[in-house]
Amino acid sequence: MSDSTSDKLSFIDEEIARLKQEGLYINIRTIESPVGSWMVVDGKRVLNLCTNNYLGLADHPKLKEAAKKAIDEWGVGPAAVRSIAGTQRLHVELERRLAQFKGVEDALFVQSGFCANQAAIPALVGREDVIFSDRLNHASIIDGCRLSRAKIIVYEHCDPDDARRKIEENLPNYRRGLLITDGVFSMDGDIAPLDKLYEVAESYGVMTMVDDAHGEGVLGRGGRGIVDHFGLHGKFDVEIGTLSKAFGVVGGVIAGKKRIVDYLRQKARPFLFSSATTPADTAACLAAVDILESSTELVDRLWENTRYFKSEMQRLGFDTGQSQTPITPVMLGEAPLAKRFSERLFEEGVFAMALGYPTVPLGAARIRVMISASLTREDLDFGLEAFARVGKELGVIS
Ligand SMILES: *Cc1c(COP(=O)(O)O)cnc(C)c1O
Repeated sequence: MSDSTSDKLSFIDEEIARLKQEGLYINIRTIESPVGSWMVVDGKRVLNLCTNNYLGLADHPKLKEAAKKAIDEWGVGPAAVRSIAGTQRLHVELERRLAQFKGVEDALFVQSGFCANQAAIPALVGREDVIFSDRLNHASIIDGCRLSRAKIIVYEHCDPDDARRKIEENLPNYRRGLLITDGVFSMDGDIAPLDKLYEVAESYGVMTMVDDAHGEGVLGRGGRGIVDHFGLHGKFDVEIGTLSKAFGVVGGVIAGKKRIVDYLRQKARPFLFSSATTPADTAACLAAVDILESSTELVDRLWENTRYFKSEMQRLGFDTGQSQTPITPVMLGEAPLAKRFSERLFEEGVFAMALGYPTVPLGAARIRVMISASLTREDLDFGLEAFARVGKELGVIS
C-alpha cells in the first residue's frame, strides 16, 4: 500500500537527485532583517549585493509610514478582485500617478510584474496570431506567450535585423503580430535596442511591448524607464513594469495607450480573477512614486555607485561583461568556480549570487552584483576589497 503511494511520486525524488547532481539545486537562504545595504542572512551579517532594491526604497521610512497609515484607514485586504469590489480609491490614484510618471495615457496596476505579462499577452494575441520574442526574454514573458496559444517565434538577442527577417517571413501566415522584448536583460544588464525594434515592428504593423522591470526607476529621466531613455513616448503599445524592484514594494503595471488599458480592464485574467493588492502595498507604491517625482537624487546616486563599482572592478582586472546598467555581472566562466567564489564572498561578509547554466549560457557563469543607491562609498569599498581578496585567492585576477 504505502509502496504504491510513494511510487507515484518517485519522479520527484529522481528530479531532485538530478538537480543536485547537475549543481542546479537551489539553496534557499533565509533573510532575518529588513532589506538594506547590510542584512542578516542565515544568521550572518553581510553586505547585500543581491537584491533588486535599486533605490533603497524597500525599507524607506516614507513607504513604511504610508503602508501603516493605509492599514489604519483601509484595513489589510480588499476581499475582492479588482473588477468586482476590489478597486479601491488607492488603486485608481496609483494608476493615475503611474501613467503621469511614465508619460502614457493610462496604466493598469496588477498584483506583480509576473502577473502583468500573464494579463497583457493573452489579451492581445491568440491562436491565430504570432509573437516575435527576444531569445533571452524573462520567464514571465515566455509563460505569458505560451498561455496566449499564439505561435512564438524567437529572434536573436537584441537583433532588429533578425526580427525583421522573421517578421517578413512569418507575419503573412497569421492574423496579427506582437513583438516583445525585455527592456534591460537581467543576467547581462544590457539594454534592448528599442528604437530600432520599434522601427522594424512599426513598418510591418506589428504591435510592440516592452517589459521594463529592471529599467523602471533606473533608466530615463529620474527613473522614468526605458521608453523615456529612448524618447519613444506614445510609440510602444504596451509597457510592462514592476513595483517590486526599484520601487521597493510589490505589484505590476501595464502602461500605454488608453484604448489598450481600457481593453485590458475587460480582458486581463489576473485582473478579473485574482484579488487586488492590499491597501498597505498600494499606498507604499504611491509613496514611492512621490519620492521619484520629487527628486532625482536616488537615481543619480544609483548611477554614481554603479560607475564607481564597475570602474574599480575593471581596475582590479575583473571582466564585467556587456552591462550598461547597475546590474554588474562578474564573468568567471565555469559554474563551480562561480559557486565557490560566491561561497567565499559570503564567508568574507558579502552576499552576491552565483549564476550558472541554464540561467546563463554554458561557460558564462558569473557572480551578479546588484548595485543600490543605498550603498555608501564605504560599503562599496568593503565589497571591492572582498572581491579582490577572493579573486586573487581563486586565481581569477593577479
Ligand atoms: C523581475 C521581473 C519580472 C517579475 O516581476 P515581479 O513583480 O517580481 O513579479 C517580470 N519581468 C521581468 C523582465 C523581470 O525582470
